[in-house]
Amino acid sequence: MKEVEFNKLKLKKEILKAIDLLGYKTLTKVQKETIPYILEEKDVVVKSETGSGKTLAFAIPICNDVVWDERSPQALVIVPTRELAIQVKKDFFEVGRLRRLKTVDIYGKSPYMKQETALKARAHVVVGTPGRIIDHIERGNLRTDKIKYLVLDESDEMLNMGFLDQVETIIENLPKNRTNLLFSATMPEDIEKLSSKYMNNPKYVEIESNENAFDRIEQIAYKVEASNKLDTLKNLTILENPDNCIVFCNTRDAVEEVYSYLDENDYKVDKIHGGMEQDDRTKVMQDFKMGKFRYLVATDVAARGIDVEDITHVINYDIPRDIEPYIHRIGRTGRKKKTGKAISFYRNNQGKYLSEVESYTGRKIIKKDISELTIEDENIKDFEEKMREKQVGARLKGKELNKGIIKLHINAGKKTKMRAGDIVGAISNIDGVSAEDIGVIDIIPVSSFVEILNGKGEYVLKELQKVKIKGRIRNVTKATRQ
Ligand code: ADP
Ligand code: MG
Repeated sequence: MKEVEFNKLKLKKEILKAIDLLGYKTLTKVQKETIPYILEEKDVVVKSETGSGKTLAFAIPICNDVVWDERSPQALVIVPTRELAIQVKKDFFEVGRLRRLKTVDIYGKSPYMKQETALKARAHVVVGTPGRIIDHIERGNLRTDKIKYLVLDESDEMLNMGFLDQVETIIENLPKNRTNLLFSATMPEDIEKLSSKYMNNPKYVEIESNENAFDRIEQIAYKVEASNKLDTLKNLTILENPDNCIVFCNTRDAVEEVYSYLDENDYKVDKIHGGMEQDDRTKVMQDFKMGKFRYLVATDVAARGIDVEDITHVINYDIPRDIEPYIHRIGRTGRKKKTGKAISFYRNNQGKYLSEVESYTGRKIIKKDISELTIEDENIKDFEEKMREKQVGARLKGKELNKGIIKLHINAGKKTKMRAGDIVGAISNIDGVSAEDIGVIDIIPVSSFVEILNGKGEYVLKELQKVKIKGRIRNVTKATRQ
């Protein structure tokens, strides 16, 4: 494939600069095939494998196009899980940061107030789960009249039975004249047909890569009796000794059981499922991304879209019911041209399921017997050594972009009628500082936050001690949370 650099695209300089600071050099195939269409505001339906860079394929053109001055949201991205909402919001935030774009994430089991404030204070892009999006539309917090991009990420899931009614309700509230973007790694035919109902003469893009993710993910299956699963899991992990591993189960109870077992056996392990408090779920995902533990036991809430650097192993402790979840689960490894292993436990009567997966992926699943899991002293030694090893924290994206940006806190907000314009005015009046050095501005009832770019934060902080903002000297400090 001929590699294309981002600066070949006609993008705004702030977007190109952010992409550069994020370390992205050339477009992935799906980005190359879709960004030009989206820049022309055409509808697209995109099928492209897990880990191929779909998020930026829609985030880049949207961030490039939205109008900064518009107060109502211009893009709405619907995703199936809260964790994915958080992740996609972060991608938008990073790409749009130097354009001072604000992306707000809204999802269930979290306080309304904070989301409401954020929605009402100029949000360019909104990313959310369907139920909460509807709630905010009904409460009048989320204005939809200016939305010109609708994205369904994991679109086959969003148009599936479980979500379809809600997604339709949302669509009924959107302006007719808009660009529709559907992205997924899987797209069953019936869903693809259904999708055409919402689309306007869409372009279908299917990315066939010659280096397929299925070629980089070795698939293995062990036939295991229910009573033997925990022991098998233990032996398997000792032998495989993964750096980072997700163990998928079909139910919350199974997650709890497997988690407790691994925890009792001193694994560096945590868990995530829909029965947990949202704050705990968010923290677990964040810690896993930072490499704070090696084993994540999860239900399918972690199957779709979640992007964690360097997951070496995916274990299906239970085989999922349908084919699509299997594809998404194993796609947590083998991302970005890396290799990985996907190992499934199956029961006597599940051989047919494995054959179906084989015909879907066009790849063989190697069937093994648990008698092959013989453990030598050497294996235990290596395993225990890795347990003691301090994990190297995963590379967090956005580090370069973060450099040279300082967030300031101003002790005045909405209640005293502070506006972004007042802050921009005051700061850009400082000698040697211009509007281009000002990043995202957040105004909440009693405070405002403003990011200062290009390494000028300390200087602006010092100057603001003596420069009036909206007629008065304000108490300005470095924000405690950067
Ligand atoms: P998908 O949605 O297709 O599963 P993601 O959008 O989550 O994939 O992207 C997978 C990973 O690839 C992410 O870590 C992302 O930062 C990275 N990535 C995206 N675009 C590029 C690019 N052009 N060059 C290098 N890495 C990229
Ligand atoms: Mg994705």
